[in-house]
Amino acid sequence: MSEPSDDVSCDTCTALCCRAPVGMTMTPDEYNMHRHTMDLALVVKAKDYPREVAVKMPIWGPKTNGSKRLNVPKGFGVYQLQSGCANLAQDNTCTIYKTRPTCCRTFELGSPACLTLRQEAGLDPVPAPSEDVEADPKAEAALFAQHFPSFAVGEVASAPQGAALQLEPLSTEAARALIGRESRWLTATLAACTEADWSRPTRCTDWDVGALAEHLTSGQLFTNQVLTSARDQSSAVQQSDFTGTQNETTEAFTQATEALVSQLGRVTHDELTKDGIVAGAPLTVHELLQVLAADLAVHASDLASALGGARRFAPDAVQAIAAVLFDLLDTGIDPPKPIAYVLKSELFELPLAWRKGGWRIEAARNPCRIEGASESLLLFALGRQSFEAAGLLTNREIDAHNFRRYFTGP
Ligand code: SF4
Ligand code: SF4
Repeated sequence: MSEPSDDVSCDTCTALCCRAPVGMTMTPDEYNMHRHTMDLALVVKAKDYPREVAVKMPIWGPKTNGSKRLNVPKGFGVYQLQSGCANLAQDNTCTIYKTRPTCCRTFELGSPACLTLRQEAGLDPVPAPSEDVEADPKAEAALFAQHFPSFAVGEVASAPQGAALQLEPLSTEAARALIGRESRWLTATLAACTEADWSRPTRCTDWDVGALAEHLTSGQLFTNQVLTSARDQSSAVQQSDFTGTQNETTEAFTQATEALVSQLGRVTHDELTKDGIVAGAPLTVHELLQVLAADLAVHASDLASALGGARRFAPDAVQAIAAVLFDLLDTGIDPPKPIAYVLKSELFELPLAWRKGGWRIEAARNPCRIEGASESLLLFALGRQSFEAAGLLTNREIDAHNFRRYFTGP
């Protein structure tokens, strides 16, 4: 591996590699020694021989059917650090440095996992997107390396030729990981905004960066309320939208995010299936996390674009956004004729049809097909890019252009 640049230093970092969610390779003895201070979930059991195994993780999304083949050394298992490591001191040093597990000793400064974590947290600039907007195997490998830094990552499997892949919501674990990752990046990016940045326009109609930050803060506060409501079985009162100065908003977003990440780390499986009660109406925590994960990923992309940069949708973000896209259809606009669409990319296929006065997820005969790279297709559907700029293909040009009329979009 080439030497990292001088700017990449642990002195300028907040021990990101010690913070969840990351993957850890450990022997059973190491696991037993550290399981009380590290919140670890078993992913692959240790065996007395080296193996190549399919490691199943929701972050992979449907393209790889949720799994990767990896070389696991003899005597090691694979664990995921879920909420955090209690050995990390407030000054970001390790309090058990001499007896820390193997994976912590072998984690390399400047490795793909290290660089990805730093970019996600806003410590280093995110490389400009390539001209080719197709799914990038290297980006997917970096994503995996972020979660399993102890592994060398091989080639990413391609999607089966011509296969229609199943569109599914993220698992709760994957939604939690995505919310944590996007929230961390948004916190760092908002904190670094200048006064001039705050009034830059965004891709969201009528919102500058300040208004987008207020909207994001309202979302974090609302989610905290629902989580508390689900835990206490109390009724949450829906607050009015947050407004504040740049300093007030940045501070409120940071605090709400810290509270949210802390709540998500403690939420039990039982609570995930419970309803929070907001303004008298039930809202399941699991469903709320799906919507929040998609919302944060979309708005992180909006913010990066407003600041003159780019933030690509990782495969888990594509999955989250595609899964909630149907909920953004505007049922108040009747199409002038019976119509059906199929949105098709390398990561998802979404059939939509107008029938009996409403939109449904169902296949229909002779639909208008809109095809292209996952991110471009989503940016078009969400009103962030024109059909032409997104480089999409269709069998019916006019219907494809009309598609945006049926979406309200965040
Ligand atoms: S190795 Fe990388 S991620 Fe870990 S503390 Fe150092 S700079 Fe941060
Ligand atoms: S044991 Fe130490 S080095 Fe390892 S994750 Fe915890 S704080 Fe970091």
